[in-house]
Amino acid sequence: MECPSKLPHIGTTIFTVMSQMAHAYKAINLAQGFPNFPPHPQLLEAASAAMNRGLNQYAPMAGYMPLRERIAEKIDSTYGRSINPDTEITVTPGATAALFAAMMSVVHHGDEVIVIEPCYDSYIPTLTLCHAVIRRVSMRFPNYTIDWDAVEGNVSPRTRMITLNSPHNPSGSILCSEDIQRLIAIVQDTDIIILSDEVYEHITFEGIRHESMLRYPQLAERSFVVSSFGKTFHVTGWKTGYCVAPRELMQEFRKVYQFMNFSCFTPAQAAFAEMLSNPSHYKDLSAFYQAKRDYFCHLMAGSRFELLPSYGSYFQLARYDAITHERDTDFAIRLTQNYGVAAIPVSAFYTDGTDNHVLRFCFAKTDETLEQAAAILTRL
Ligand code: PMP
Ligand code: GLN
Repeated sequence: MECPSKLPHIGTTIFTVMSQMAHAYKAINLAQGFPNFPPHPQLLEAASAAMNRGLNQYAPMAGYMPLRERIAEKIDSTYGRSINPDTEITVTPGATAALFAAMMSVVHHGDEVIVIEPCYDSYIPTLTLCHAVIRRVSMRFPNYTIDWDAVEGNVSPRTRMITLNSPHNPSGSILCSEDIQRLIAIVQDTDIIILSDEVYEHITFEGIRHESMLRYPQLAERSFVVSSFGKTFHVTGWKTGYCVAPRELMQEFRKVYQFMNFSCFTPAQAAFAEMLSNPSHYKDLSAFYQAKRDYFCHLMAGSRFELLPSYGSYFQLARYDAITHERDTDFAIRLTQNYGVAAIPVSAFYTDGTDNHVLRFCFAKTDETLEQAAAILTRL
């Protein structure tokens, strides 16, 4: 039987490819982004208590109300914005699903969407399924800042959306207030919608504040803001996230989402609601990951990798020109198969495979794992 592919140029996601390779070769997996340490015991107890309490049937389509209320409180206290939990928040099975529903709900056939690359690998395929015309804008290398002149140059009357991600995967760069001012100037007097991927919102370093779209009324009024509890509570496998948007946008979002997934795993929602009641769980996260980043960089200090600055997220980029001139994909494979450390080649985050000879390492790992990996990497 023949069926033309809807995504003819898309293969298996790099995260699956590298994790499978790491498994097959028993390599230390610093590739796919997930912690290898347990979540807070209170989270596990809360989920189990929710099940025993009988919270085992469908939650409301938009999410378990106490969780939406806690999310609204967190947004209010963190970003100073009042959000209506009834009409402006939807809980989703991870951020990926929220990104998918947001794009599907507002991007029409032929609409232009400006995508900043490198980007998380779901954006381009999802926009392809929307039949969007994708306008790619590369971040500057090697500091991964946004070239706003290039963004502005790509805006047209047909621009429907701009995608943003801060703290940024894979680079760890973050938006600063100058970026926000440029963005405000670009979108004012337009109907451009912003899709802001803020899954690492609670992981920023050196006390730098996260510039959420929710802080700025001119941006919040036109933004889908996406986050993920997987990152914040060390449970990527629970696949629970959420989307925040103004009422009109959220209405369209829910029209799609109700037939995509309808609702999320109820016990997890109850458990996250309980955890959010204690803000220290997410307020302490930046310090926790800053210590991990610093330890990994300390261990790597004697290596021939050149570490690029990471200001947020749980990723560390490293240039390897002093070690080899091979393509990043080839080096990542060789590193996994011959040396036993898996990383992500950053070219995977570019549609055209731009290769600056950079690998991404995930430092959301135990100190012991980081030590074992660094012992190998510093010998290269
Ligand atoms: N966006 C970015 C930038 C990510 O790094 C990730 C996953 N690491 C996601 C979205 C997807 O998050 P989730 O696992 O909650 O779907
Ligand atoms: N976002 C994670 C990363 O960047 C992985 C997500 C996934 O495997 N789909 O590594």
